[in-house]
Amino acid sequence: MLNFSEAYILHVNDRIHLNESDAVQLSNVQNGITGEKLFLEFFDGLKAVAMIHGLRLDIKGEVQYDFLFIQEGEVYHYEIKNYQGQLEERNGLVKNQHGYIYKNIFQQFDRANVLLEQILNEYRVESYIVFINPSCTIKTDRRDVLEYQDLKQRVEFHQAKKSTSHDFELAKLLKSHHLHRSKYERIHYYDFDQLSPGVKCPECMRFFEDCYGGRDYVKCSYCHHKMRKQELIFETIKQVELLKNDYYTALEISKWSGISKRTVHKVLNHYCDSFGSNRATRYVLRDEFRPKIFNTIK
Ligand SMILES: [Zn+2]
Repeated sequence: MLNFSEAYILHVNDRIHLNESDAVQLSNVQNGITGEKLFLEFFDGLKAVAMIHGLRLDIKGEVQYDFLFIQEGEVYHYEIKNYQGQLEERNGLVKNQHGYIYKNIFQQFDRANVLLEQILNEYRVESYIVFINPSCTIKTDRRDVLEYQDLKQRVEFHQAKKSTSHDFELAKLLKSHHLHRSKYERIHYYDFDQLSPGVKCPECMRFFEDCYGGRDYVKCSYCHHKMRKQELIFETIKQVELLKNDYYTALEISKWSGISKRTVHKVLNHYCDSFGSNRATRYVLRDEFRPKIFNTIK
């Protein structure tokens, strides 16, 4: 689950030249997604497990959890770090082979765990920090650190357990407290009119190369994800709303999706509230259709 600033940076990328701090943030977000995908590939075959991905809670301040598995009354927390190279941990500080120091990794991890234990007092919490990149090794005395090659064993561990109805209820309860938007999130919005138009594939974040050309669907030439015409319009509306952060017109949605205004109108009327009339009509997604979270990992 991406937060708004992460979704914004992924969607604005390739549409305009990013400033330096946004370029750094983009690379961090992409790196994080790659790491989480790698982690999920391991647990792909795990069936019927109460799992939460990317949970953000407000417990005496904001705190985030990459993955929580809930099985047989126990909560397993995995925090994913996608760093490369040879690392060494001493007194909570992590240093790489070039002397670069990663700030606050274990402090944040420990804080998240203490807070989780506080709110889940009858559940036992077991937490691991996972250095997921296959090239990464870490020298440490901590027992809650995992490397890439340790994950196979963790998969077997979880396969031998199951999630009860209580576990699923807890997952639902935690998800219902998910913070959709952080108080501390600040987005630097680029001028919408300067952005390259077009819809991005929501699965791989690359532009759909060919516009909708009267067929039943468009297909991403990179990841082969298919979208029907109505879905493509809805996706366009979400992307324009995220990037523009303001009302938009049917003409804009038509231009971005390559679909006729007539068809776009029907979809806009279904999902959006409208203001003004005729050519000046502007739209915004109704609350129930506004994305609460942006999924890029499914
Ligand atoms: Zn794609």
